[in-house]
Amino acid sequence: MSQFWSPLVRTLTPYVPGEQPKVTNLIKLNTNENPYPPSPAVTAAMQAVSAASLRLYPDPDSSQLKQTLADYHGVKPNEIFVGNGSDEVLAFVFMALLKHESPLLFPDITYSFYPVYCRLFGIDYVEVPLNDEMKIDIGDYTGRECGAIIFPNPNAPTGIPLPLSAIEQLLQAQPQAVVVVDEAYVDFGGETALPLMQRYPNLLVVRTFSKSRSLAGLRVGFAVGHPALIEGMERVKNSFNSYPMDRLATAGAVASYQDDAYFRQTVQAVIDSREEMTRALQELGFTVLPSSANFVFARHPAFSAESLAAGLRERAIIVRHFKHPRIDQYLRISIGTPEECQQLVAALTLLTA
Ligand code: PMP
Repeated sequence: MSQFWSPLVRTLTPYVPGEQPKVTNLIKLNTNENPYPPSPAVTAAMQAVSAASLRLYPDPDSSQLKQTLADYHGVKPNEIFVGNGSDEVLAFVFMALLKHESPLLFPDITYSFYPVYCRLFGIDYVEVPLNDEMKIDIGDYTGRECGAIIFPNPNAPTGIPLPLSAIEQLLQAQPQAVVVVDEAYVDFGGETALPLMQRYPNLLVVRTFSKSRSLAGLRVGFAVGHPALIEGMERVKNSFNSYPMDRLATAGAVASYQDDAYFRQTVQAVIDSREEMTRALQELGFTVLPSSANFVFARHPAFSAESLAAGLRERAIIVRHFKHPRIDQYLRISIGTPEECQQLVAALTLLTA
């Protein structure tokens, strides 16, 4: 039946998401979810939403959520765009802000959704290679003609962060280009670019509730930037007549921001486990890239990542292995609870013996 597809759809290579297994008896360390549940305040707030209220459409402006985010991050509500997960926010970013005559730049090893969006929205792009240490080198972006730039900070799947000074250098060097910093993992030890926002109208920061706020299942993400950038995205969104957040997601997301102590505590627990896991993997002979995210990217000099991933799977542990030639020697392992991390290390001890 594909003769009914439009020509564009025929040429699309869709994004392949990490596996979401149907069984629950696996240790799931493959899609960077948070191992801890959301704050009890989130559960309470969602339970307090009356089913009867679901008869009514939600607020098309998501004013309450925008106000909550604005207060917390020290910006104004008109500097915030919200959406169903940062993937949807990114879709609006690509549509509204990243298509120009000059190409969009992003790293060759990065979030694999970016090239998919480019093909979907007809955006010309150039992939800029990471350097030999698997790092983004800002010098590779500063002197180049481009329409826009996007990268995650920390980068994914390497986990390596860029300092704020490098981002500022880029914003100064490319004042005509929108610079999008995808901060999906920033709470686990990266430096947020938000303090630069007031000085650089070409900066857009994208955030998600899926990682540090344990709410991947709720689908909430947002972008922060100059009101003109946000207005461009709202224009596209309104062309789809889409409601950004449903009533339940709004209640849960707002409550999550009201329990800061829980947020800090669970983020710290993940960071502690990451450091512990890094040490344990190094003892097994792995090279572990310096991660500031809720995952590590590691390779073993003697064992193929593909065979290790298969061996882990036989032991009911799933991690992520990418087939991309430059990183197919690496495993990306999400940080689980301390018990899950111990089981992973125990399994890898056997597999690398
Ligand atoms: N950006 C990056 C770098 C990611 O790794 C992810 C998660 N796969 C996302 C954005 C999207 O996350 P979500 O849609 O759950 O907010």
